[in-house]
Amino acid sequence: MKNGVVIVGAGHAGVQAAASLRDEGYDVPVTLIGDENELPYHKPPLSKTFIKDSAAVPQILRAEAFYETGRIELRRGVLVERIDPVGKRLDLAGGGSISFDAAILATGSRPRVLRLGGGELGGVLSLRSVADARSIRELSARIEDAVILGGGFIGLEIAATLSAGGRRVTVIEAQDRLLGRAVAPAISSHVRQRLEASGIRVLTQTTVERLEGSNGRVEAAIASTGERLPAQMVIVGIGVVPNMELAAEAGLETANGIRVDGQMRTSVPEILAIGDNASYRHWFSGADVRLESVQNATDQARLAARTITGHHDVYRSVPWFWSDIGDMKLQMVGLAQASDRSLVVGDVSDNKFSVFHYGGERLIAIESVNRPADHMLGRKMLGAGFSPSVEVVAAGADAVKSAFMDAQKQVAADPA
Ligand SMILES: Cc1cc2nc3c(=O)[nH]c(=O)nc-3n(C[C@H](O)[C@H](O)[C@H](O)COP(=O)(O)OP(=O)(O)OC[C@H]3O[C@@H](n4cnc5c(N)ncnc54)[C@H](O)[C@@H]3O)c2cc1C
Repeated sequence: MKNGVVIVGAGHAGVQAAASLRDEGYDVPVTLIGDENELPYHKPPLSKTFIKDSAAVPQILRAEAFYETGRIELRRGVLVERIDPVGKRLDLAGGGSISFDAAILATGSRPRVLRLGGGELGGVLSLRSVADARSIRELSARIEDAVILGGGFIGLEIAATLSAGGRRVTVIEAQDRLLGRAVAPAISSHVRQRLEASGIRVLTQTTVERLEGSNGRVEAAIASTGERLPAQMVIVGIGVVPNMELAAEAGLETANGIRVDGQMRTSVPEILAIGDNASYRHWFSGADVRLESVQNATDQARLAARTITGHHDVYRSVPWFWSDIGDMKLQMVGLAQASDRSLVVGDVSDNKFSVFHYGGERLIAIESVNRPADHMLGRKMLGAGFSPSVEVVAAGADAVKSAFMDAQKQVAADPA
């Protein structure tokens, strides 16, 4: 009797892995264990549509029937406490254990905690799960002032949503620009300018000294400038940390995440790791990364299923990400960290432009604001290893498209 695959974590990566195992013809038991009680759901809407609409319900990843017809045993509200990599067994909180032939760790990440005086007050929240989003939604209906700690994607999405709903919002960011780790300065300053124009106050190079409150509830954030900012709600959005404790305690190799190879195998080959918790050498940049995106989670899940079913593909997906901040749809493709030159195309004043990043002569990333066609073309070009010259990019979107099509025709005519 085969024990099959046990997947720990029923988020974007875990659910896709279960589906892909069946797509690949894997015919033995698949058990999907998640510590949340909900039917697995999409996380991106939580900071966008869900918190502004009191009637919104979680968008489920798959209908309940999918698990039944796919013979995927979904165990909700169950926490995996330990892995024994030698005995190939998982121990569950509250008792019980499950044996496996292969295990996939898809445990995701959790919000980084800010240790701060007053951090334990009611109204100090962070956002990862639908339960967190419900708390934010309920409280935001009853408050006037919100302070967001951290000018990253999630913090800014929430800021824009709350501000559009009539709250007074202040964003506090320690660095000298918003989205500093993620996008080019041109995009940071554009986002800042539009958020400020919509009434959001943005303080950069500023931190919070402490939170103050009474009767157990937050009332104000005291900024490093000494200013007292009224806040009946404080959202801490200062990044996430990978859920890698299970792996570390089992002796698997970790380094800013669970280390995996190009086939998603950890240092114990029968245990794989995927999604927000996995760190690996990225084929595209040659750098060690841990990416937090739906694309990364689902593409790695598909590959993990291929690995378990005996294929030898190596991870080669083009990384991409999106974020909706007020009236700005940001889309990023590629990895821009090694950018040494960039070119802005489009119309910044019209809220529609892209930043093309080069590392030497190679196009390595495109960051777009309300230019989805640039993003989609970028995914194709980077996937095909095609770099338009800076001159072609400067000539406009049509020139880039036709240069790419010409190159594709040439490859088709002469595949060698
Ligand atoms: C509010 C929000 C907005 C986002 N917006 C975007 C966006 O616009 N675009 C984008 O690309 N990405 C976005 N992301 C990021 C994206 O959602 C994540 O990258 C993605 O969810 C990662 O998938 P995952 O399966 O690795 O982790 P998750 O989806 O977090 O799933 C992990 C699951 O494992 C469970 N778990 C952990 N440990 C255990 C255990 N020991 N036992 C049992 N269960 C366990 C967790 O509770 C969780 O349910 C957003 C994330 C959030 C929170």
